[in-house]
Amino acid sequence: MSSLADKLDALTSVGELSEAQPGGAVRCYACGHRCLIRPGKRGICQVRSNQNGELRVPWGYVAALQVDPIEKKPFSHVLSGSDALTFGMLGCDFHCGYCQNFFTSQAMRDPQSEESVNYIRKISPEQIVQAARRSRAQVVVSSYNEPLITSEWAVAIFRQAQQAGLKCAYVSNGNATPEVLRYLRPYLSAYKIDLKTMQDRAYRQLGGVLQNVLDTIRLVHELGLWLEIVTLVVPGFNDSTGELLDAARYIASVSPQIPWHVTGFHPDYKMTDAPATNADTLLRAAEIGEEAGLQYVYAGNLPGRTKNYESTFCPHCRTLLVERRGYTILGYFITAQGTCPKCSTAVPGVWTAQPETVRLGGMGIPYLARF
Ligand code: SF4
Repeated sequence: MSSLADKLDALTSVGELSEAQPGGAVRCYACGHRCLIRPGKRGICQVRSNQNGELRVPWGYVAALQVDPIEKKPFSHVLSGSDALTFGMLGCDFHCGYCQNFFTSQAMRDPQSEESVNYIRKISPEQIVQAARRSRAQVVVSSYNEPLITSEWAVAIFRQAQQAGLKCAYVSNGNATPEVLRYLRPYLSAYKIDLKTMQDRAYRQLGGVLQNVLDTIRLVHELGLWLEIVTLVVPGFNDSTGELLDAARYIASVSPQIPWHVTGFHPDYKMTDAPATNADTLLRAAEIGEEAGLQYVYAGNLPGRTKNYESTFCPHCRTLLVERRGYTILGYFITAQGTCPKCSTAVPGVWTAQPETVRLGGMGIPYLARF
């Protein structure tokens, strides 16, 4: 057994998102894989395991703890200009070849990520909330690895965060189950989902199933959580006009008010032969989103090169509502009631009731959190 496995197995608690099966097996339903795990075995994510007929799940540590601009998640309709105290653990239920966090997400799967053992720091939910307060963050976010597979630990943190008046959010691949979404619902204010492709075959190469992600998008919206969707546009993988149109039409069929972020890819991990996404491709993707009827389309990862697609405009009268460049807010014009200042159209999202406090300018860059 590796030192990483030893360490992770020591940092566990009893899982709540499971049911007992005959022969000491357990069925985990923290994610759409719904693994049947026999005694002594691990689930597909490698970080949830069956020990003596009991599901053990990650607990009591972070592998990353950082203060990020909320725009980096990306959320463009959640407390714009605020900071998000973001924590991540280890492991993932997918194995995307272009993962930008593979050292943490592919722990226990890829020998290259063995050194992620050095990132592990024991911590309590109280210390995480303290770190959020110290950094004046308004939101606590589970991200960097797939949060669904560590949902029990996230809920332990979110309970404390809510009591401290903080909002909570997930940045997720969307491979959820109705059970885990209902488990999370009382604690979450916002949910970001990656819609990586509209081809089931391509999803299976990444370790997922398209329909699970589409169903999660619909259910997250129906549960009343604020939802934003991201598609990382990878040249040659998902950048055809037909596929982008399919994605945008699906989102619009759930609600045209769901923001869609089309973001630029840069070569990473195992996908180093595809070129970086250029600005023309992102602009084409954003125009496709609008053509499909989406009211809020954003182009990300190429600051200053995607016309007006970093900022928020009123879909009714085209008044500028939030002016952005990269992760920096340059102007904020939404009213305290969350409406357009010119035509009073309600702007969907989670907005501050004190618009005069929104931080303008600033570096718009992440920094490590202290605890
Ligand atoms: S979180 Fe998903 S991959 Fe991990 S054990 Fe549970 S069902 Fe399997």
